[in-house]
Amino acid sequence: MVEIKTDTALEAMREAGRVVAHALAAARAAAAVGVRLSALDEAARAVLTEAGARSPFLGYQPSFAPVPFPAVICASVNDAVSHGIPDGYRLRDGDLVSVDCGAELDGWTGDAAISFTVGTPRPADLELIAATQRALDAGIAAATTGRRIGDISHAIGTVARKAGCGMPADFGGHGIGRRMHEDPHVPNRGRPGRGFPLRHGLTLAIEPMLMAGGHDDYRTDPDGWTLRTTDGSRAAHIEHTIAVTRDGPRVLTLP
Ligand code: MG
Ligand code: MG
Repeated sequence: MVEIKTDTALEAMREAGRVVAHALAAARAAAAVGVRLSALDEAARAVLTEAGARSPFLGYQPSFAPVPFPAVICASVNDAVSHGIPDGYRLRDGDLVSVDCGAELDGWTGDAAISFTVGTPRPADLELIAATQRALDAGIAAATTGRRIGDISHAIGTVARKAGCGMPADFGGHGIGRRMHEDPHVPNRGRPGRGFPLRHGLTLAIEPMLMAGGHDDYRTDPDGWTLRTTDGSRAAHIEHTIAVTRDGPRVLTLP
């Protein structure tokens, strides 16, 4: 079931989204060559605690996962696409890192992700991150009243294909509100004019995951969580929570 949010709920989700943005900024600021991924998690956790927010990631266990998620961020490095666990891995020069974070504040949730490089970047990684950002921007721009979920999916898929990138077919965006994952699903490719109609008060997490190798297949690590490219190519993942409004799409996960 899709819950259309009241304007009061949208303001509450904006506050949760602000906490997510600050937690992501803290994780990114903590990232440097030689730093453990767990330190990024600690930096984000401190922001959530300070804000009085709960993590919807910590302890999360969807049907595909063998164990509850042990952290407040996902940290996915290089050929890891998404859902990486922030463990004791020490960041190396030139790593491409995607950090995903959520926050629940006063009963409402925000969810966002960023991709960035550590140390001296590879030019190809910067291009991949830029393409992923363009895909997200195109998806958000398509999130206007009177259109449909398929218009968002089509916009994202068009950018990814043009960039020569693959995308894991089984993972995409989602409705969000009282819980992190709500209906409707927001696929990262699709046909325009199809799917759930977009109207004022619909809140969505839009999240393209682009794989540089151009293949759509992926594999899951033995940890049961980390998604990886099968060809070893690098991946980027960028996400915002947005609201469809009569004044156009409103990004809720900004600082
Ligand atoms: Mg996310
Ligand atoms: Mg999400």
